[in-house]
Amino acid sequence: MKNKDLEDLKMKLAKFAQDRDWDKFHSPKNLVMALAGESGELVELFQWLTESDSQNLSDKQKHRVEEEIADIFLYLLRLSAKLDIDLIEVANSKILINEIKYPIERCYGLSNKYTDL
Ligand SMILES: [Mg+2]
Repeated sequence: MKNKDLEDLKMKLAKFAQDRDWDKFHSPKNLVMALAGESGELVELFQWLTESDSQNLSDKQKHRVEEEIADIFLYLLRLSAKLDIDLIEVANSKILINEIKYPIERCYGLSNKYTDL
């Protein structure tokens, strides 16, 4: 399944890297590490917030979260492009797998992992 918006973003990312001669740095290993780094930056924004704080971000906090989510998304998209993985297809597939792992009648209202249901 091809999504035009995702394909456009992939092309922009590829051009961004090519224009800067950065493609040589975008190995799957490096992209995974960059993705983990950006995820850490997102975690840092929520570190020490209370549950309530995390649901009531200030405009400034929300803007910083948006920036980190964008970084994560772009690295994930770049990684998936490099590995020829269709993000939409695998995400849909994973939802189906999770529906089987977590049947409603066994997990409703529970946070247990599927191995502990
Ligand atoms: Mg960042």
